[in-house]
Order: sequence, then structure tokens, then C-alpha cells
Amino acid sequence: MKKIHNYINGNKISYSDSILDVDDPSTGEKIAEVTMSNNEDFKNTINSSLNAFDNWANTTPLKRSRVLSRYKKLIEDNIEILAKIVSSEHGKTLEDAKGSVIRGLEVVEFACGIPHLLKGEFSQNVGTNIDSWSIRQPLGITAGITPFNFPAMVPMWMFPISIACGNCFVLKPSEKDPSCAIKLAELFTEAGLPDGVFNVINGGKEVVDMIIESQDISSISFVGSTPVAKYIYEESAKRGKRVQALGGAKNHLVVMPDANIDQAVDGIMGAAFGSAGERCMAVSVAVAVGNIADKLVEKIQDKAQTLKVAPWTDKDSEMGPVISKDHKLKIEDYITIGLKEGANLKLDGRKCKIQGYENGYFVGPTLFDNVDEKMTIYKEEIFGPVLCVVRKDNYDQALKLVNNHKYGNGSSIYTSDGEVSRHFTTNSKIGMVGVNEPI
Ligand code: NAD
Repeated sequence: MKKIHNYINGNKISYSDSILDVDDPSTGEKIAEVTMSNNEDFKNTINSSLNAFDNWANTTPLKRSRVLSRYKKLIEDNIEILAKIVSSEHGKTLEDAKGSVIRGLEVVEFACGIPHLLKGEFSQNVGTNIDSWSIRQPLGITAGITPFNFPAMVPMWMFPISIACGNCFVLKPSEKDPSCAIKLAELFTEAGLPDGVFNVINGGKEVVDMIIESQDISSISFVGSTPVAKYIYEESAKRGKRVQALGGAKNHLVVMPDANIDQAVDGIMGAAFGSAGERCMAVSVAVAVGNIADKLVEKIQDKAQTLKVAPWTDKDSEMGPVISKDHKLKIEDYITIGLKEGANLKLDGRKCKIQGYENGYFVGPTLFDNVDEKMTIYKEEIFGPVLCVVRKDNYDQALKLVNNHKYGNGSSIYTSDGEVSRHFTTNSKIGMVGVNEPI
């Protein structure tokens, strides 16, 4: 059985005997065991980072940038391999996985410009005979705690910039799909990054708590669910750490009566059901405005039924399984709740069975019509292929609905009316006109 260790000081190593199973979500079979690290693993990680820090912080930004440039090339050369690692543990289609690596790569590319990005500022005579200047210096050891849904992209939002700035970085990836982080670290070593600058430690809450409590870690980046984001934000801030914590989402897509309906439906397919809805930018609510609603629901229902739900190894797959058995059951529970609360179930993903993959964690595209604001399926993040249609009479009601939801990450509108589009982007939480590119 494949064993996924930590990646510390350029070596795959772990002291803890505790392990967790890693499954292939398409088959439901165990494919690896990941170390659930202990105190000794954590000490090893911190010592390695502390030893590496001075040297790396004193390496010129230009030399750091050269390492990043080599890293960029290595990721480009290994995109297929990285995407396969992502798909095999996460379940998303290979195209989706590749897209996510490319999005992460953009940050590596951005970080290559660090000599310019790190420039300071100078102001003359801020007081009589007093000049003021600012410089950007590394903080020390920084840490990232990341979710299962983007095992390449989300860590790559964090560590390239931190490392380019002269920091060391400790990554605690999701225990559900941890292999990609190890491959990303190996490639960085191959690019010439000194040992200890980028370490990966596996585990769950225990390791997160060690990171929060460590006096050697100066800052934390977190991406994941809202309750955990709140916990990490509060506990880290209490200890004087710099912390950013990004949580869950409920994204609305408004379809106005003057929209090109086929274009909107195409967009909804990718945005609601791509990556089985396990995206923080997934559209989980379609707001149908005015008399477009009946046609829109009918067309979404027709098209969603044709989506090919299959494992990533099937090259025609348009939607894979969800991450785990527990998550599948949780999504199915939400569907049951939606029915009980009176929403109109037009497509039921609980019935999805894939021949030869009966034990896989598949949930088919699910569509609810006539959802209202009081329903649980509207209020909570489901994080699965479940689309709720809410009907509103006019634009003002739709706008109010979007802005009143407690979650928001990105929202969008289909309309031919340029005025309305502008209103959305400037006066509301809605930040996008059109549809997110599928990743
Ligand atoms: P999660 O919160 O369960 O886990 C995220 C990380 O926190 C993992 O590394 C996990 O090991 C750790 N963790 C889990 N429980 C913990 C606890 N009790 N204490 C301390 N650490 C804990 O999230 P997930 O299920 O892996 O990811 C899905 C969530 O991430 C969704 O809510 C999604 O919206 C969100 N997300 C948000 C963004 C964004 O940009 N806002 C991007 C991607 C994903």
C-alpha cells in the first residue's frame, strides 16, 4: 500500500505511526495511507524551516526568482502527472484538474517578478527634515492550511509568493488528497530550492493546532469551510499571528428575461456541476427573473440529464464523484431536506449509479425549482452538484436576494442590458458579469 509521508528538508519522512486511509472516490477503494503527524514530526518540520530561513532570506530576490522560473518550467513539464495525481485522489475530471494546476501556475509566474514586486517606497519631507521609507522583509516561517477541493491550486495561491519573498513555508494539505502537495514540493527541490524552505506536514486538526500554537510560525493562510476559518482566524489572531482565512460560499447566478438563454444554460452546466459542485466559485443558486423561469428550468433539466457522470479515467467524463462517502451522504441528506421543506425536485442525483463503479462516491446533477430563502438548501453551503432555482419577479428583488445572503464569493448575471451589468458590478456584492471560466 502506498504510504504518503511528510516532505521535510528534502526528504519523505514521518515519525508518527498514526495513519488515515486515502480513497479513490471513483471506486471507493483505499489507494494509500497518509501519516497523521505527531509532535515529533512537527518539531522536525520547524527545526528544518528555522535552519533554512536565514540563508534563504539573505538570498537576493533575483536568485530567488531564478529558482521560481525553473520551478515554473518543471510544473509545465509535469502538468499531466500533477493532474493525474489530483484526479486520482479528488475524483475531478482530468481537464478540470489540469485547469486547476494552470491556475496555480499563474501565481508561480507572478512570483517570478519578485525583484520588482518587493520594491519599497520613499517619501521626502514627511515632516521638516524627516524622510520616510518602507521596505519589505521576510516574516520568517509562514504556514498554509488548505482544503481538499483544489489540492494543487489553493496551496499554489500561497507558497510561491511567500517563498519568493524570502520566507520559509510549511504546508498542511487536506488529509483527503495529500499526494499533490508532496509532488509540488519535490519539483521545487528539483528546481534548486534549498532544503527546508518548503516543507509539507500531513495530518488533521492536531497539526493545525500545533501550527497555531507555534511561536516560530509568524503567519497563517487558510482556505476551507467557514467554521474552521473562524476558529483558525480567532485562535491565530489571539496569538498575534498575521492570518487570512477564506471560508465557504453560496454563489448566485442571475438570469434576466433578456438573457441569451442557451448561453446561460451552457454556463450553468459548468458552473453548477463542474467538479461535482465542489468549488468555492460553484454556482449553487440560479435566480430566474420574470418570465424566463419556466423555460430556464426546463432547459437546465434537459441539459443536466445529458452530462456524462463517470470516473476521471473515462476521457468523456464531464463530472466525477464527490470526495468521500461521508460527503456523498451529507449531500444526499440535503436533497432529502430540500424535498421535506417543499422545494420542487426536478432532477434527483441520489439515483445516480455508474456501472462498474457502484461503490464510488457519485451524486448526479440535482436540480431544485421553487426554492425560497427560508429553506435549508438555500441558506447553507452544500458543496455538491445541487442547483437551487429561486424565482424572482424583477431585477431589484434578485439583487436584494443576492446581497442578503450571508455567504458570497462570486456572483454573476446573464443579461443583454449593459446598464444592469454595470449596476451589479459597482453597487453590490456581485463582482462578475458573465460566468466563471470552469477550472
Ligand atoms: P475543511 O474546513 O474541512 O478543511 C480545510 C483544512 O482544515 C484541511 O486541511 C483540514 O485538515 C483542516 N481542518 C478540518 N477540520 C478542522 C478543525 N476542526 N480544526 C482545524 N483544522 C481543521 O474544508 P474542506 O472540506 O477541505 O474544503 C471545502 C471548503 O473549502 C468549502 O467550504 C469551500 O467553500 C471552501 N473553499 C473556499 C475557498 C475560498 O476561496 N473561499 C476556496 C476553496 C475551498
